[in-house]
Formats: sequence, C-alpha cells, structure tokens
Amino acid sequence: MTEKQRFEEELLYFFEEVTITGVKIEIDDTDCLLVGASAVIPLFGFHELRYRNINEVLLYQGSFNDDHQTEGKGRNILGKVGKGNMNRLMILSLPALRAGFKNENSATNVGIHEFVHLIDMADGVVDGIPESLMQKQYVAPWLKLMHREIESIKKNKSDINPYGATSEIEFLSVASEYFFNNPDKFQDKHPELYSLMKKMYRYSP
Ligand SMILES: [Zn+2]
Repeated sequence: MTEKQRFEEELLYFFEEVTITGVKIEIDDTDCLLVGASAVIPLFGFHELRYRNINEVLLYQGSFNDDHQTEGKGRNILGKVGKGNMNRLMILSLPALRAGFKNENSATNVGIHEFVHLIDMADGVVDGIPESLMQKQYVAPWLKLMHREIESIKKNKSDINPYGATSEIEFLSVASEYFFNNPDKFQDKHPELYSLMKKMYRYSP
C-alpha cells in the first residue's frame, strides 16, 4: 500500500467514526475532507493509533464566542474541543479551517491545532505532553525545548505564534500546526524542535 492509499484509508475510517455537521451552513465534500485531513495528519506516523475521544465535528459559519454565538461582539474563537457536556465534540470555524489549508507557507491550521489537543487529552491529562504517542525518553527533552522556546516567544525572539506562549497545552498545538503546515521553514528556524517532533510524531511531514 502506498502512503497515499494509507492516507485515504485512514480518512475513510475517520468518516465512519465521526459525523461532520454544518451548523446553519451548507458544507461540501471538500470541507469534510479538510476536517478528515486535520485528524489524519498528526496520527499518520502511527499505523494503529486512532481517535477514541471524538464523535462529531460541528462547522460554524465563522468565529464564535464562549457562548458559541457566531454573531455579535467578542467572537475570537476559531476552534475548540469539548469538555464536560461538550465531551466528544469539536467546533471549528469553517473559514478558518479552509484558510489553514489554503496557504502552504502559513504556520497556522486550526483543524490540526484542535486535533492535537485531542491527542494531548487521550492520555487523560491535558498538559502539552502527548503521552499517548510520545516515548518516555522524549518527555524531558520536550519540556526543556518547550520552556526555552516559550521564553523566546515572550522575549519576541521567536516566529512561533505568541498564542503558543500562553501555556504548555497551547504550545504543543501551535508548534504542531507549524511543524505540519510548513515543515521546511520549521526545520530551518527550529532544528532542535523539528528533530524532536519528528521523533514524537514518527514521521516528517
Ligand atoms: Zn488551543
């Protein structure tokens, strides 16, 4: 089986398990494909590993606020994964999802960002250490590199999205977006992080 065939197979498996619903909007096959790709990309290095913590992805017409309103003020959320009564649910802004795949040079991809949060959650703790896929010997180096880079972001000396400096949890997702969306640039600018993340995700994008 070629890598392309394996990718398609993983997509089909994902679509069997997860419903994708447009909320007050029409969505097409391409939109579903983008959701599927966001899910498959971070786990592609792991042949047997799949998401067990999601059933449905809702696509909204735009950014939303904490109360899930897509109109009015304070709408600055592009994606989120559910906790509590929103368990097993993900919400993505459709325009943001599409934008993440449009520009090859972009370091942002909200779909990948949110699926990496799900991977982080899979070990039971959301802490920026994806222990469900990370081998133990990489945890300490990961924390060290992560803390060093968060300091650089805070000093304005890094090109990683400053949102990544808000917590270890967000750093994992933000760095992963960059790693998967623009691997060449990421490798060039952050060789140590790149090499560690390549081991963590078990492939180079
Ligand atoms: Zn996040």
